[in-house]
Amino acid sequence: MHRYLIALGSNVRHPRHGAPREVLRAAARALDSAGMDLEVLSPIIASAPLGPSRRRYANACALVSSPLAPAALLSRLQSIEHTFGRVRRGSPWRARTLDLDIVLWSGGALADIEANLVIPHPAYRTRPFVLGPATTIAPDWRDPLTGLATKHLASRLTRRRPTPR
Ligand code: AMP
Repeated sequence: MHRYLIALGSNVRHPRHGAPREVLRAAARALDSAGMDLEVLSPIIASAPLGPSRRRYANACALVSSPLAPAALLSRLQSIEHTFGRVRRGSPWRARTLDLDIVLWSGGALADIEANLVIPHPAYRTRPFVLGPATTIAPDWRDPLTGLATKHLASRLTRRRPTPR
């Protein structure tokens, strides 16, 4: 059995599920389906838009246990994303209806070129919208590359630099 820390994000309303935070609640239920057990979902936070988008994001993290290897888990996550992204028959897919990333897994560091998968997720150390929720459910989980726990990576982001004399 493996454990995974998954980051969830949404910035688009879904016609059935509703606002982005409801999208994440529904996505968490999908993470608790065949072959995956949702252990805990963090609080859902609102965060600033990324890039040119004006829509605020809802973000959260989840701890999931699963017998699936990382590449198989990633393809499950991608099929969940697609289910949520396909908002209406005939309309274009909306990429950010739901974004699911593997942040960490119990197997340490991994680079699977064939599956286009890198764990730890290359960007998570600088993302407050991942580290904030992750700290609430997995504060002591150490990044296998830096040796720093989630709570330390988070405090490194929020700590103010000392003012030079
Ligand atoms: P994005 O939609 O921007 O999150 O990017 C998705 C792409 O990132 C997919 O092609 C994945 O194969 C790739 N990827 C690489 N590492 C990861 C990871 N740890 N979790 C999720 N997707 C990943």
